[in-house]
Amino acid sequence: MARYTDAVCRLCRREGMKLFLKGAKCFSDKCPIEKRNFAPGQHGKDRKAKVVGYGLQLREKQKAKRIYFTQEGQFRNYFEKAARAKGVTGERLLQQLERRLDNVVFRLGFAQSRRQARQLVRHGHVAVDNRKVNIPSYEVSAGEEISIRENSKKLAVLEMAKEFASHGTLPTWLEVDRDNYKARVLGLPKREDIQLPVNEQLIVELYSK
Ligand code: SF4
Repeated sequence: MARYTDAVCRLCRREGMKLFLKGAKCFSDKCPIEKRNFAPGQHGKDRKAKVVGYGLQLREKQKAKRIYFTQEGQFRNYFEKAARAKGVTGERLLQQLERRLDNVVFRLGFAQSRRQARQLVRHGHVAVDNRKVNIPSYEVSAGEEISIRENSKKLAVLEMAKEFASHGTLPTWLEVDRDNYKARVLGLPKREDIQLPVNEQLIVELYSK
């Protein structure tokens, strides 16, 4: 699947709910879901049919994929890896997505959205155990230290993100010192730590057909 380059708010409108892809805008009255909560496109307003069965499973997969900004092939790989691992497949799937470095940078409050976090990682502003890591899909492990590199700490986006993050809550599996842009992964996320409007069992059913 090609990289998505259209307006991300369309993705929320397609799912009929806020997916919080744009940071501060999502909490303001400029959020398009507040004014136009119907699917984008010419016939968006008319598509009101109840979604059941395969359609419902598909929507749950699309939602998770869009929240974490992964592409179809990559998302499928996550599922296959989760299916091979021990434990509950759906939970494993979400755990892998949650451990992505771009997601962790977002959860720590170093970025206002996962997209912004991804850019910080890609541009080489993030380090793991004091070594630059510019791969957004890098999976963090318990005990690792995540930090913003010394020369990047003055970035204006970081200051804005810090202000934004002060209103949110930090997951229990992470510990952060926001003033020094340093954090530690205390353990792996459990299902109850992942507060997302996603029914992962439906994604497992979709891919298990
Ligand atoms: Fe979604 Fe945020 Fe855009 Fe609202 S502002 S539609 S929540 S991305």
